Amino acid sequence: MTDVTRSSLELLYTISRELTTDLDLHTVLARVLASSSKYVGAERASVIVLNERQEPVEGAIIVHDRLVPHTADQLRATLEHGLAGWVMRNREAALIQNTSLDDRWLRRPDDAAEKSGAKSAICVPIITRDQPVGVLTIVHPVPDFFNEEHLALLQAIADQAGIAIYNAQLYDSLQAAHRRYHELFEDSIDPVWITDFNGSILEANRQSKRMSGHEPDSLSTHTASDMLDLPPGWLDEHRSALEDGGEISQEALLFSHHGSPVPVEVHIRKVDTGTVPTLQWILRDLSARKALDALRDDLMAMIYHDLRSPLSNIISSLDMLNMLTPAADRGTMQPVLNIAQRSSERMQRLISTLLDIYRLEAGQVVSDRHPVDVNTLIHEAVDAVQPVVETKNQVLHIDVQAEIPPVLADVDMIRRVLINLLDNATKYNSYHGEISVIARMVGDEIEFSVKDNGPGIPPVALQQIFDKFTRLQEERAPKGLGLGLAFCKLAVNAHGGRIWAESRVNEGSHFIFTLPVAPA
Ligand code: ADP
Repeated sequence: MTDVTRSSLELLYTISRELTTDLDLHTVLARVLASSSKYVGAERASVIVLNERQEPVEGAIIVHDRLVPHTADQLRATLEHGLAGWVMRNREAALIQNTSLDDRWLRRPDDAAEKSGAKSAICVPIITRDQPVGVLTIVHPVPDFFNEEHLALLQAIADQAGIAIYNAQLYDSLQAAHRRYHELFEDSIDPVWITDFNGSILEANRQSKRMSGHEPDSLSTHTASDMLDLPPGWLDEHRSALEDGGEISQEALLFSHHGSPVPVEVHIRKVDTGTVPTLQWILRDLSARKALDALRDDLMAMIYHDLRSPLSNIISSLDMLNMLTPAADRGTMQPVLNIAQRSSERMQRLISTLLDIYRLEAGQVVSDRHPVDVNTLIHEAVDAVQPVVETKNQVLHIDVQAEIPPVLADVDMIRRVLINLLDNATKYNSYHGEISVIARMVGDEIEFSVKDNGPGIPPVALQQIFDKFTRLQEERAPKGLGLGLAFCKLAVNAHGGRIWAESRVNEGSHFIFTLPVAPA
């Protein structure tokens, strides 16, 4: 290796080290200019940084080793009309021996002959990953000062500058992204925690401090299980699901320094925040919803309760009227009285069902259970739907196994379950359709089933129909609230039984439920 080659390599190494050790764009640009003036011998140097649309976004100028302020307009003018613009458009370096003889040179007031006059200049493009990211220009007050060696050295500086600018921009955008995500984290209206897989809180946002009343420092000494009333071992139970990328949701109470615990819905999932796997916990405050639910439930219970007694009075008055009607008037009065009686009984069943849904959902047990004769139970239920069966010219079969033992049930509640199923069978079945009610003993249970040959239920909906307010969106479907089957499920389950549906679309539906046999 010759001395010249060695000293060029050493110079390149020095320049590379000087330029690439910093990640701040302003510092990088200042160093590029300092190297250009120090190693190439420029009196004035400028660098312009471009964005991906080739617009100038940053720039720096030094004159006699002093950084001077520049304006965005100055940069734009140089890039549009001056030598830098030509270099950028042609992606080619330019060496100008005499600026006053070259049209590419943008003349400025200070270039006038009586001021600094003719100069020499070199301008090179800065290219990284095949994209122009800037342009570097140096100027010397004496024409014919620069030669091809200066040009090669400046191009080497520009190549190093390209890497340094690219790294600085990358770092800048990473920093900006980090700031943006940090702001999103801090400004979230829900409390957010980042914990490890043992639930130790590593980070908590502003809102979580506000809701829990814990100071930032004290939060990081807590675990999620200290702060929430999660069942013991809950996090361990869900560990593998979380590790596999699943999201877990759970209602819990957040213990607060402010006073009573806050009801929250917790959503947890794994996030990649670095080398250690962490969990993100988002806590949604449920206080307002819970308060509204409680208010609605209380209001509903009050309404159902207060509707029941006047309705009972109407029903007993109608009974009385029935008894007191003289035999001569029965022919005309009876149908009207029947309609009034059946309608009020229907209303009474609906209110009791709504009240039962509310009570059973609240976990109330069915205490009023007695041995109930299956035949009587079925005939009473069938009686309630008989008028509709007759109006629709449907055929109803009853098939009860001989010597069937009594079931242990709240008779009023289970009668309403059967009426609901029969009601649906007549309602959704067409005119002249067939309905059967069957009861038989299976093991130590009695199995009741209500079958129809109506439109049927698609397989996907066979479970959903037992949820509250679920109605299948059929055109011209009969009216309903979607509460009947939800009540049936709650009532049967509360008796220790099971209920399910089987069906083939266009062939019919089959609802089956079981009840325990009454002990002998
Ligand atoms: P509602 O009858 O008030 O809509 P239910 O809870 O009793 O509410 O029933 C839920 C849904 O299940 C009904 O809307 C209907 O789409 C479907 N369904 C229930 N019983 C039958 C049946 N026998 N035949 C066909 N569809 C039925």
